[in-house]
Amino acid sequence: MGEMEEERTSQAGQLFENFVQATTCKGTLQAFSVLCRQLELNPSDHRGFYSSLKAAITYWKAKGLWGKLDKRASHKEYSKGKACVDTRCLIIGGGPCGFRTAIELALLGAKVVVIEKRDTFSRNNVLHLWPYTIQDLRDLGAKKFYGKFCAGSIDHISIRQLQLMLLKIALIVGVEVHVNVEFAKLLEPPEDQGTDGPGWRVAVRPADHPISDYEFDVIIGADGRRSTLDGFKRKEFRGKLAIAITANFVNRNTTAEAKVEEISGVAFIFNQKFFLELKEETGIDLENIVYYKDNTHYFVMTAKKQSLLDKGVIINDYIETERLLASDNVYQEALLSYAREAADFGTNYQLPSLDYAINHYGQPDVAMFDFTCMYASENAALVREKSGHQLLVALVGDSLLEPFWPMGTGCARGFLAAFDTAWMIKGWAQGKGPLDLLSERESIYRLLPQTTAENISKNFEQYTIDPATRYPNLNSTCVRPHQVRHLYINGEQD
Ligand code: FAD
Repeated sequence: MGEMEEERTSQAGQLFENFVQATTCKGTLQAFSVLCRQLELNPSDHRGFYSSLKAAITYWKAKGLWGKLDKRASHKEYSKGKACVDTRCLIIGGGPCGFRTAIELALLGAKVVVIEKRDTFSRNNVLHLWPYTIQDLRDLGAKKFYGKFCAGSIDHISIRQLQLMLLKIALIVGVEVHVNVEFAKLLEPPEDQGTDGPGWRVAVRPADHPISDYEFDVIIGADGRRSTLDGFKRKEFRGKLAIAITANFVNRNTTAEAKVEEISGVAFIFNQKFFLELKEETGIDLENIVYYKDNTHYFVMTAKKQSLLDKGVIINDYIETERLLASDNVYQEALLSYAREAADFGTNYQLPSLDYAINHYGQPDVAMFDFTCMYASENAALVREKSGHQLLVALVGDSLLEPFWPMGTGCARGFLAAFDTAWMIKGWAQGKGPLDLLSERESIYRLLPQTTAENISKNFEQYTIDPATRYPNLNSTCVRPHQVRHLYINGEQD
């Protein structure tokens, strides 16, 4: 290698390293744009981007990452990145499930755009990962982006770290990401122009953003529990009153902190003695508690209403949960003490100083959420047709099926839905008829709420977007095409 060339390689390596090591959403996007500019790579060339980047970054540290991504990209389901070449997909929401879906669609060769209404990843809260999710993320190079990823027996990650690594992988495989862009509504193709006219588009905020000129064949709602996409009915699961509290404390990574044991939720639910003692000693009455040591000391607990009233956390008792937990009915100082006391007791007073981490709003990171009603979408996908243009619309992640945080199913089931959706989009690109496609998708979706870390296929190495590799009891025809006719919407939007 000549001296000039050597210098170029090392400069490219440094730029790539800056991107890999960036610690914020904005920092990542900035480092990516510098990298592309300096190396004269065109990120909007989604088909050639990954291979051009790989050719430009030849320094040793990147080799391991290329090896992993090449291996993933070689799954036969992607047909060498040609399975969905003419499919243009929009993903609403840059949460973990939006990005995970985006990566799969890019590997299928689709043009993928993600819009995210915020420009920061700030959630300290920690997600439990099932063994297959850990393997999945490792295979995408998680450790290259976050060295501490699931070291030893760790089986969790903070939401923001997960978003950050998935954003980076998405960019590498050619996904176009726009932050500070909020989805407003779907725009139908104009009636008078037929198939020659423009197809399906979206209105966004800010209204003049270039995205509003893009046309799409597929739109995916990955915008969290309050999904904004029309046409999906929501089922409500009303359980008994469930109030969850999350709290994050500063982790100074001292030896004393390192020694304190985590509390894994499932085992603890059955430890009645602990809860009785906690109640006797502190007046705090919990149904469960989980503690993960991550970037922060993270606790999530379900508290009984009476103890929240007794301890002055909730001021007045109301029947409606919304009123009960409204901010003017919560005494913040008491909530801070409540969660701190529970955390202290739960860790046997071994965490030296429980100082709250600071959240996005500059406040101590504690929050209270109502899980009395949990939502799931009745259906996972639908097809719209207008003026000869078809649009496949799907939901993934919390928009599809809301998780109960103390059980930690959100990301695990969310990624399964991301793969199932990618499988459907592959079928769509292959020209499968809408009713066959939708009935297969609904058949697979019926398995999702019952899927657990225990009953899912254990052969993680074999997992692909093909549902048969993941669900042992798959019957992909249990919903029949005639049962999904209402999901094929021809004409006006409702
Ligand atoms: P999310 O992670 O909710 O991501 C949705 C994304 O869409 C967000 O980035 C949002 O900004 C964006 N968005 C929303 N509307 C629009 C729009 N109109 N246009 C563009 N973008 C939009 N799970 C746990 O297991 N434990 C926890 O402690 C926990 N804490 C949580 C705290 C909060 C505040 C929230 C919102 C969720 C929490 N969850 C928790 C749930 C967990 O984050 C999800 O299960 C997991 O992240 C997968 O979700 P997702 O990607 O489907 O959606």
